[in-house]
Amino acid sequence: MAPLHNPGHVRGIEVARELFTDVPHVVIFDTSFFQTMPAESYTYALPKAIAQKHAIRRYGFHGTSHQYVSREVSQVLGKPNDEVNQIVLHIGSGASVSAIKNGKAVETSMGLTPLEGLVMGTRTGDIDPAVIFHLYRAEGMSIDEIDTMFNKQSGLKGMAGENDFRQILRLIEEGSEDAQLALDVFVHRIVKYIGSYMGVLGGLPDAITFTAGVGENNAMVRDLVVGRLAGFGIKLDAAKNDVRSDEPRIISTEDSTVNILVVPTNEEVEIARQTVAKIAE
Ligand code: AMP
Repeated sequence: MAPLHNPGHVRGIEVARELFTDVPHVVIFDTSFFQTMPAESYTYALPKAIAQKHAIRRYGFHGTSHQYVSREVSQVLGKPNDEVNQIVLHIGSGASVSAIKNGKAVETSMGLTPLEGLVMGTRTGDIDPAVIFHLYRAEGMSIDEIDTMFNKQSGLKGMAGENDFRQILRLIEEGSEDAQLALDVFVHRIVKYIGSYMGVLGGLPDAITFTAGVGENNAMVRDLVVGRLAGFGIKLDAAKNDVRSDEPRIISTEDSTVNILVVPTNEEVEIARQTVAKIAE
């Protein structure tokens, strides 16, 4: 289901069980934070019997990061987590966005697998599934070939030849139109999701937060995304946006209708916390 991730994780579990025989082993699922999503969010409009038979539904990934970051946001805002409505943008080489209402995840952009949603380093994100049928019929590609193309050869890499965001920026500086278009598609998709998640949340959230490699480190992307939200009264403070820091911080202006934050994610700490809680049960 997650070809870039699961085989390595399964091997890690096998080796850990061989080597560490006298300690409890805990698995923290990257999907668990999204188990609070309502059926209307996680259900695909497929025939019910086949969806149930194969457990085909939206699960979401990066949950550990979205959970950690959303709690940090509540602390920065000084509000109880279960009173905060927020949108979290995890933008790294994998990318996902979540809508969190009163501390509970109600939507996220990844689905049955991490392929759905935002444009990523090598993954398509959202795409009309009919493209698969068309490639199969018109190009004679096998399902496995299309799977590999969508997961490993698409996204920024497919559009511009590089999956690393810094290389995309370098190519843009060198005048690459492909890299510019890749950035435009990338930003457009993020903005589209923010707009739709404000609809899901029923209004402006308390916070929109950037995290992960690109979200934490690249002021330009934050500026491009938030600049497109000006019509909602959402405004970045340019000086705050430009500060580099390892600390969670607000980068919107005082009069912005929504707080914009940068919060460095820490999936390791979140996994450790959940492991300790599990062992203490
Ligand atoms: P992650 O998957 O969270 O480790 O994020 C990796 C992505 O973050 C890669 O595309 C990197 O190019 C990108 N990244 C890391 N540092 C920077 C930076 N200073 N500016 C732009 N992108 C960055």
